[in-house]
Amino acid sequence: MYNLPTALADVLTLPSPLERITVAQSTSRIWCKRDDLIHPIISGNKWRKLSASITSLVNRQPTQDSVQIISFGGGYSNHLHALAYVCCVLGYEFTAIVRGHYSGNETPCLQDLKTWGCHIKYLDKTLYKSYTDVSQPEYPSSMKNLQEHFPRAVIIPEGGYSIDALAGSRMCISEIAQQLPLICKQSNEPLPTKTLIVTPVATGSTLAGLVSAKYCDVLGIAVLRGHGYLEDNVTALLSCQQSSNDCEWSINHDYVSRGYAKSSAVLDGFIQAWNQANPTMLVEPCYSGKALWGLVELENKAALDAYSDIIFLHTGGLQGARTTSVIA
Ligand SMILES: *Cc1c(COP(=O)(O)O)cnc(C)c1O
Repeated sequence: MYNLPTALADVLTLPSPLERITVAQSTSRIWCKRDDLIHPIISGNKWRKLSASITSLVNRQPTQDSVQIISFGGGYSNHLHALAYVCCVLGYEFTAIVRGHYSGNETPCLQDLKTWGCHIKYLDKTLYKSYTDVSQPEYPSSMKNLQEHFPRAVIIPEGGYSIDALAGSRMCISEIAQQLPLICKQSNEPLPTKTLIVTPVATGSTLAGLVSAKYCDVLGIAVLRGHGYLEDNVTALLSCQQSSNDCEWSINHDYVSRGYAKSSAVLDGFIQAWNQANPTMLVEPCYSGKALWGLVELENKAALDAYSDIIFLHTGGLQGARTTSVIA
Protein backbone atom coordinates (compact mmCIF):
# COMPACT_ATOMS: atom_id res chain seq x y z
CA MET A 1 0.00 0.00 0.00
CA TYR A 2 2.79 2.43 0.81
CA ASN A 3 5.65 1.32 -1.42
CA LEU A 4 8.20 2.89 0.88
CA PRO A 5 11.95 2.43 0.90
CA THR A 6 12.73 -0.25 3.50
CA ALA A 7 14.90 2.04 5.60
CA LEU A 8 11.81 4.19 6.22
CA ALA A 9 9.15 1.48 6.23
CA ASP A 10 11.02 -0.13 9.11
CA VAL A 11 10.76 2.93 11.33
CA LEU A 12 7.38 4.46 10.46
CA THR A 13 4.13 3.42 12.17
CA LEU A 14 1.66 3.14 9.31
CA PRO A 15 -1.27 3.09 9.26
CA SER A 16 -1.31 5.42 12.24
CA PRO A 17 -3.82 4.50 14.99
CA LEU A 18 -7.36 5.87 15.13
CA GLU A 19 -8.51 6.25 18.75
CA ARG A 20 -11.71 7.27 20.49
CA ILE A 21 -11.19 10.34 22.70
CA THR A 22 -13.33 12.33 25.06
CA VAL A 23 -13.44 16.10 24.70
CA ALA A 24 -15.92 18.37 26.41
CA GLN A 25 -19.56 17.41 26.24
CA SER A 26 -20.48 16.26 22.82
CA THR A 27 -23.30 14.48 21.10
CA SER A 28 -20.87 13.36 18.39
CA ARG A 29 -18.35 10.57 18.74
CA ILE A 30 -14.89 12.10 18.79
CA TRP A 31 -11.82 10.32 17.42
CA CYS A 32 -8.19 11.16 17.10
CA LYS A 33 -6.15 10.13 14.07
CA ARG A 34 -2.76 9.75 15.68
CA ASP A 35 -0.42 10.90 12.93
CA ASP A 36 1.76 12.16 15.78
CA LEU A 37 2.62 8.49 16.36
CA ILE A 38 3.93 7.89 12.82
CA HIS A 39 7.43 8.70 14.02
CA PRO A 40 8.91 10.71 16.91
CA ILE A 41 10.99 12.88 14.56
CA ILE A 42 9.36 12.58 11.14
CA SER A 43 6.45 14.54 12.48
CA GLY A 44 2.94 13.49 11.41
CA ASN A 45 1.76 15.70 8.63
CA LYS A 46 5.29 16.53 7.53
CA TRP A 47 5.71 12.87 6.65
CA ARG A 48 2.33 12.85 4.89
CA LYS A 49 3.34 15.90 2.87
CA LEU A 50 6.73 14.52 1.90
CA SER A 51 5.75 10.91 1.33
CA ALA A 52 4.88 11.15 -2.38
CA SER A 53 7.98 13.21 -3.27
CA ILE A 54 10.32 10.96 -1.30
CA THR A 55 8.81 7.75 -2.64
CA SER A 56 9.12 8.93 -6.22
CA LEU A 57 12.69 10.09 -5.62
CA VAL A 58 13.65 6.73 -4.21
CA ASN A 59 12.15 5.00 -7.20
CA ARG A 60 13.73 7.38 -9.70
CA GLN A 61 17.22 7.39 -8.28
CA PRO A 62 18.85 3.98 -8.02
CA THR A 63 22.04 5.42 -6.52
CA GLN A 64 20.87 7.13 -3.39
CA ASP A 65 24.03 9.09 -2.73
CA SER A 66 23.45 11.15 -5.84
CA VAL A 67 20.27 12.67 -4.45
CA GLN A 68 20.51 16.23 -3.20
CA ILE A 69 17.58 18.04 -1.60
CA ILE A 70 17.14 21.70 -0.69
CA SER A 71 14.34 23.16 1.36
CA PHE A 72 13.37 26.16 3.47
CA GLY A 73 12.10 26.92 6.94
CA GLY A 74 12.46 28.75 10.24
CA GLY A 75 14.63 27.83 13.20
CA TYR A 76 11.93 25.64 14.75
CA SER A 77 10.61 24.17 11.51
CA ASN A 78 8.93 20.77 11.80
CA HIS A 79 9.26 20.48 8.05
CA LEU A 80 13.06 20.93 8.01
CA HIS A 81 13.38 18.67 11.02
CA ALA A 82 11.40 15.82 9.43
CA LEU A 83 13.02 16.22 6.02
CA ALA A 84 16.55 16.36 7.45
CA TYR A 85 15.95 13.14 9.32
CA VAL A 86 14.46 11.42 6.25
CA CYS A 87 17.54 12.48 4.25
CA CYS A 88 19.82 11.19 6.98
CA VAL A 89 18.06 7.80 7.00
CA LEU A 90 18.17 7.54 3.20
CA GLY A 91 21.70 8.89 2.84
CA TYR A 92 20.59 11.93 0.83
CA GLU A 93 22.51 15.19 0.87
CA PHE A 94 20.36 17.91 2.40
CA THR A 95 20.71 21.68 2.48
CA ALA A 96 18.38 23.67 4.73
CA ILE A 97 17.92 27.34 3.96
CA VAL A 98 16.93 28.93 7.24
CA ARG A 99 15.17 32.22 7.84
CA GLY A 100 17.20 34.40 10.21
CA HIS A 101 20.70 34.07 11.65
CA TYR A 102 21.00 31.46 14.37
CA SER A 103 24.68 30.54 14.04
CA GLY A 104 26.19 30.24 17.49
CA ASN A 105 22.70 30.26 18.94
CA GLU A 106 21.04 27.23 17.37
CA THR A 107 17.59 26.07 18.37
CA PRO A 108 17.18 22.39 19.39
CA CYS A 109 15.76 21.81 15.91
CA LEU A 110 18.83 23.27 14.19
CA GLN A 111 21.17 21.36 16.51
CA ASP A 112 19.47 18.15 15.38
CA LEU A 113 19.89 19.16 11.74
CA LYS A 114 23.61 19.55 12.30
CA THR A 115 23.80 16.17 14.04
CA TRP A 116 22.17 14.61 10.98
CA GLY A 117 24.78 16.06 8.66
CA CYS A 118 22.62 18.72 7.08
CA HIS A 119 24.17 21.81 5.44
CA ILE A 120 22.58 24.93 6.87
CA LYS A 121 22.53 28.31 5.15
CA TYR A 122 21.17 31.29 7.08
CA LEU A 123 19.49 34.10 5.18
CA ASP A 124 18.13 37.37 6.46
CA LYS A 125 14.38 37.78 6.28
CA THR A 126 14.27 39.81 3.07
CA LEU A 127 16.52 37.51 1.11
CA TYR A 128 14.71 34.47 2.49
CA LYS A 129 11.44 35.88 1.23
CA SER A 130 12.80 36.10 -2.29
CA TYR A 131 13.04 32.28 -2.29
CA THR A 132 9.81 31.47 -0.52
CA ASP A 133 7.24 34.14 -1.37
CA VAL A 134 6.01 33.70 -4.93
CA SER A 135 4.52 37.20 -4.88
CA GLN A 136 8.01 38.78 -4.59
CA PRO A 137 9.30 40.19 -7.90
CA GLU A 138 12.72 38.59 -7.24
CA TYR A 139 11.25 35.14 -6.70
CA PRO A 140 11.66 33.70 -10.25
CA SER A 141 15.27 34.83 -10.61
CA SER A 142 16.21 33.69 -7.07
CA MET A 143 14.86 30.21 -7.76
CA LYS A 144 16.55 30.09 -11.16
CA ASN A 145 19.90 31.01 -9.63
CA LEU A 146 19.48 28.46 -6.88
CA GLN A 147 18.73 25.69 -9.35
CA GLU A 148 21.69 26.73 -11.52
CA HIS A 149 23.94 26.69 -8.51
CA PHE A 150 22.70 23.22 -7.50
CA PRO A 151 21.79 21.63 -10.84
CA ARG A 152 21.12 18.15 -9.40
CA ALA A 153 19.07 19.35 -6.46
CA VAL A 154 15.42 18.70 -5.89
CA ILE A 155 13.98 21.87 -4.36
CA ILE A 156 11.08 21.32 -1.96
CA PRO A 157 9.06 24.45 -1.07
CA GLU A 158 8.84 25.92 2.44
CA GLY A 159 6.63 23.88 4.75
CA GLY A 160 6.20 21.26 2.03
CA TYR A 161 3.49 23.42 0.45
CA SER A 162 2.99 21.85 -2.96
CA ILE A 163 0.61 19.86 -5.07
CA ASP A 164 2.75 16.78 -4.35
CA ALA A 165 1.79 17.11 -0.70
CA LEU A 166 -1.87 16.25 -1.28
CA ALA A 167 -1.41 12.54 -1.96
CA GLY A 168 -0.17 11.94 1.59
CA SER A 169 -3.29 13.45 3.15
CA ARG A 170 -5.38 11.24 0.91
CA MET A 171 -3.44 8.25 2.22
CA CYS A 172 -4.35 9.34 5.75
CA ILE A 173 -8.02 9.45 4.75
CA SER A 174 -7.89 6.06 3.11
CA GLU A 175 -6.57 4.65 6.39
CA ILE A 176 -9.47 6.27 8.26
CA ALA A 177 -11.96 4.93 5.72
CA GLN A 178 -10.84 1.42 6.64
CA GLN A 179 -10.40 1.95 10.38
CA LEU A 180 -13.53 3.87 11.35
CA PRO A 181 -16.24 1.43 10.16
CA LEU A 182 -14.21 -1.50 11.43
CA ILE A 183 -13.90 -0.09 14.95
CA CYS A 184 -17.62 0.74 15.02
CA LYS A 185 -18.53 -2.79 13.97
CA GLN A 186 -16.15 -4.36 16.47
CA SER A 187 -17.66 -2.37 19.31
CA ASN A 188 -21.25 -2.89 18.13
CA GLU A 189 -21.84 0.78 17.56
CA PRO A 190 -23.72 2.38 14.69
CA LEU A 191 -21.74 3.25 11.57
CA PRO A 192 -20.93 6.93 10.99
CA THR A 193 -23.61 8.86 9.14
CA LYS A 194 -21.95 12.26 8.82
CA THR A 195 -18.25 12.71 9.46
CA LEU A 196 -16.04 15.75 9.93
CA ILE A 197 -12.25 15.85 10.10
CA VAL A 198 -10.57 18.74 11.93
CA THR A 199 -6.99 19.82 11.22
CA PRO A 200 -4.72 22.76 12.04
CA VAL A 201 -3.95 24.99 9.04
CA ALA A 202 -0.68 26.82 8.35
CA THR A 203 -0.14 26.61 4.59
CA GLY A 204 -3.34 24.72 3.80
CA SER A 205 -1.77 21.79 1.97
CA THR A 206 -2.80 19.22 4.56
CA LEU A 207 -6.35 20.55 4.46
CA ALA A 208 -6.44 20.60 0.65
CA GLY A 209 -5.29 16.98 0.57
CA LEU A 210 -8.01 15.94 3.02
CA VAL A 211 -10.63 17.73 0.93
CA SER A 212 -9.35 16.15 -2.27
CA ALA A 213 -9.99 12.70 -0.79
CA LYS A 214 -13.74 13.48 -0.85
CA TYR A 215 -14.46 11.26 2.12
CA CYS A 216 -15.96 13.66 4.64
CA ASP A 217 -16.35 17.35 5.47
CA VAL A 218 -13.18 19.14 6.51
CA LEU A 219 -12.77 21.92 9.06
CA GLY A 220 -9.44 23.70 9.32
CA ILE A 221 -8.46 25.71 12.39
CA ALA A 222 -6.08 28.49 11.34
CA VAL A 223 -2.93 28.74 13.47
CA LEU A 224 -1.81 32.02 11.91
CA ARG A 225 -3.43 35.22 10.69
CA GLY A 226 -4.43 34.53 7.12
CA HIS A 227 -8.09 35.22 6.49
CA GLY A 228 -8.64 34.94 2.76
CA TYR A 229 -5.02 34.09 2.07
CA LEU A 230 -5.33 30.57 3.47
CA GLU A 231 -8.58 29.94 1.63
CA ASP A 232 -6.87 31.10 -1.58
CA ASN A 233 -3.98 28.69 -0.95
CA VAL A 234 -6.39 25.80 -0.59
CA THR A 235 -8.44 26.79 -3.64
CA ALA A 236 -5.25 27.08 -5.71
CA LEU A 237 -4.13 23.59 -4.70
CA LEU A 238 -7.57 22.11 -5.31
CA SER A 239 -7.90 23.73 -8.72
CA CYS A 240 -4.93 21.61 -9.87
CA GLN A 241 -6.97 18.50 -9.08
CA GLN A 242 -8.93 17.08 -11.95
CA SER A 243 -12.43 16.66 -10.64
CA SER A 244 -14.55 19.02 -8.62
CA ASN A 245 -15.03 18.52 -4.92
CA ASP A 246 -18.27 17.49 -3.39
CA CYS A 247 -17.44 17.69 0.28
CA GLU A 248 -17.71 20.80 2.39
CA TRP A 249 -14.64 22.56 3.75
CA SER A 250 -13.99 25.75 5.65
CA ILE A 251 -11.35 27.40 7.79
CA ASN A 252 -12.15 28.84 11.20
CA HIS A 253 -10.00 31.86 12.14
CA ASP A 254 -11.21 32.40 15.70
CA TYR A 255 -8.45 30.48 17.50
CA VAL A 256 -5.31 32.07 16.05
CA SER A 257 -4.53 33.73 19.41
CA ARG A 258 -1.93 36.45 18.90
CA GLY A 259 -0.54 34.91 15.72
CA TYR A 260 1.72 32.15 14.48
CA ALA A 261 3.59 30.35 17.26
CA LYS A 262 2.12 32.78 19.79
CA SER A 263 0.04 31.50 22.64
CA SER A 264 -2.23 33.11 25.19
CA ALA A 265 -3.05 32.50 28.84
CA VAL A 266 -6.28 30.73 27.88
CA LEU A 267 -4.57 28.52 25.31
CA ASP A 268 -1.71 27.74 27.69
CA GLY A 269 -4.21 26.83 30.39
CA PHE A 270 -6.10 24.57 28.00
CA ILE A 271 -2.93 22.78 26.88
CA GLN A 272 -1.64 22.31 30.39
CA ALA A 273 -4.91 20.82 31.56
CA TRP A 274 -5.21 18.63 28.48
CA ASN A 275 -1.65 17.29 28.74
CA GLN A 276 -2.08 16.56 32.41
CA ALA A 277 -5.28 14.62 31.80
CA ASN A 278 -4.03 12.93 28.60
CA PRO A 279 -0.38 11.97 29.07
CA THR A 280 -0.51 9.59 26.10
CA MET A 281 -1.82 12.23 23.72
CA LEU A 282 0.19 15.39 24.23
CA VAL A 283 -0.42 18.60 22.28
CA GLU A 284 1.70 21.72 21.80
CA PRO A 285 0.72 25.40 21.45
CA CYS A 286 1.74 25.99 17.83
CA TYR A 287 -0.49 23.56 15.91
CA SER A 288 -2.17 20.61 17.60
CA GLY A 289 -3.00 22.45 20.83
CA LYS A 290 -4.54 25.40 19.01
CA ALA A 291 -6.63 23.18 16.77
CA LEU A 292 -7.80 20.99 19.64
CA TRP A 293 -8.65 24.06 21.69
CA GLY A 294 -10.71 25.37 18.75
CA LEU A 295 -12.47 22.03 18.43
CA VAL A 296 -13.31 21.90 22.14
CA GLU A 297 -14.62 25.48 22.10
CA LEU A 298 -16.81 24.71 19.08
CA GLU A 299 -18.06 21.56 20.79
CA ASN A 300 -18.94 23.57 23.87
CA LYS A 301 -20.99 25.88 21.69
CA ALA A 302 -22.72 22.84 20.16
CA ALA A 303 -21.60 24.14 16.76
CA LEU A 304 -20.71 20.71 15.39
CA ASP A 305 -23.64 18.67 16.64
CA ALA A 306 -24.78 17.84 13.12
CA TYR A 307 -21.94 15.35 12.84
CA SER A 308 -22.23 11.78 14.06
CA ASP A 309 -18.43 11.53 14.09
CA ILE A 310 -15.65 14.07 14.39
CA ILE A 311 -12.03 13.11 13.78
CA PHE A 312 -9.31 15.31 15.20
CA LEU A 313 -6.19 14.92 13.06
CA HIS A 314 -3.20 15.05 15.39
CA THR A 315 -0.56 16.34 12.99
CA GLY A 316 2.34 15.86 15.42
CA GLY A 317 4.89 18.63 15.82
CA LEU A 318 5.89 18.16 19.42
CA GLN A 319 9.57 18.72 18.64
CA GLY A 320 8.84 22.35 17.83
CA ALA A 321 7.75 22.95 21.42
CA ARG A 322 11.08 21.87 22.86
CA THR A 323 13.19 24.51 24.50
CA THR A 324 16.11 22.25 25.38
CA SER A 325 17.78 18.95 24.65
CA VAL A 326 18.29 17.03 21.48
CA ILE A 327 16.07 13.99 21.01
CA ALA A 328 18.31 11.98 18.70
C1 LIG B 1 3.30 22.19 9.45
C2 LIG B 1 2.32 21.71 10.42
C3 LIG B 1 0.94 21.97 10.26
C4 LIG B 1 0.39 22.80 9.16
O1 LIG B 1 0.14 22.06 7.99
P1 LIG B 1 -0.17 22.80 6.62
O2 LIG B 1 -0.27 21.69 5.65
O3 LIG B 1 1.02 23.66 6.33
O4 LIG B 1 -1.39 23.59 6.75
C5 LIG B 1 0.09 21.43 11.20
N1 LIG B 1 0.55 20.71 12.25
C6 LIG B 1 1.86 20.47 12.43
C7 LIG B 1 2.28 19.70 13.61
C8 LIG B 1 2.78 20.97 11.54
O5 LIG B 1 4.09 20.72 11.74
